Amino acid sequence: MSFVHLFRRYLREQGLPVTQQREAIAEVVFASSEHLSVEELETLLRERGERIGKATIYRTLEMLVKSGLVEEHDFGEGFKRYEHLFGQKPVREHLICTECGKVAEIHSPELVRMQEEAARRQGFQPSRYRLQIYGLCADCQAAGAELRWEGLSCPIETIQG
Ligand SMILES: [Zn+2]
Ligand SMILES: [Zn+2]
Repeated sequence: MSFVHLFRRYLREQGLPVTQQREAIAEVVFASSEHLSVEELETLLRERGERIGKATIYRTLEMLVKSGLVEEHDFGEGFKRYEHLFGQKPVREHLICTECGKVAEIHSPELVRMQEEAARRQGFQPSRYRLQIYGLCADCQAAGAELRWEGLSCPIETIQG
């Protein structure tokens, strides 16, 4: 099942040219269930015999995000990751390994309920939200990695110290 026609339609609606490169980028993003960085995307494209520059990839990803077909994530790695939204999962909660960068998703109806309740207690009507949990994945723990304690640094203490 390809969703590229949705992107094609978006580009036409916006009066933007539908190019072979843009379609190839969208195809690769839609075909992946990963959270892709631009680097990874470039590699996947190269494997398909597409040589597309980073600038074009960035620009196309920007369009994909604006079209609402792709979501952009910032997992604190200093670069963005991209994930298409065709997984029928309205709620995406992420477990991010700070050692190897692996990202896993969790889907917990309990967590959804708790967050909605917490929002309502503030008189807030939630529409969507994002939960990111940082730590060590099972593989990294097995390999002996230890959690680096990020600490509760207080800015006032820092100034005094
Ligand atoms: Zn995700
Ligand atoms: Zn890990």
